[in-house]
Amino acid sequence: MSIRPGLAGAFPLAVLLLPAFSWAGDDADEKLFRKVMARILSTDLARKEYPDKYVWPPKHFIKPDSVKELNAYATASEKLGAEFDSASGKIRPVVMITEGYLKNVVKGNENVLAAIMGHEFAHLTRDHVGGRKGETLLLLLAFSRDDEIEADLDGVRYAVAAGYPYK
Ligand SMILES: [Zn+2]
Repeated sequence: MSIRPGLAGAFPLAVLLLPAFSWAGDDADEKLFRKVMARILSTDLARKEYPDKYVWPPKHFIKPDSVKELNAYATASEKLGAEFDSASGKIRPVVMITEGYLKNVVKGNENVLAAIMGHEFAHLTRDHVGGRKGETLLLLLAFSRDDEIEADLDGVRYAVAAGYPYK
């Protein structure tokens, strides 16, 4: 996409900015992320263990403009992207990964991504994300060691239910 400075005002800001922040691997990472999340969310196990208090399915996305961040998270905080659904009166929580994590850690390995996203999804099903209203942004992202062990164990269950190899 080429843009002459004189045309800038004619386009929405997002259209102008998005190509500038992309790199060669982002389309492949986006496809891989969607595939892994679709596989995990389509399992009976994931659906069955998802808390009634949240809207199904959780939002799931690659954090925009995050190529320098190494992170993945699960949250029910509206500050971090969860949405209140007025029709049901429930929150739709979020599982998210950064572009940097995909590029530098996952590196196109679908099994690795399934383990990571299974882990994040487990933070929702075990409701580690609930009841944290009023805490700081940092605390909203910090789970206890027990929570992390639990999410590791359940994350493997979700990945295996979705057909990924146990490792
Ligand atoms: Zn965790």
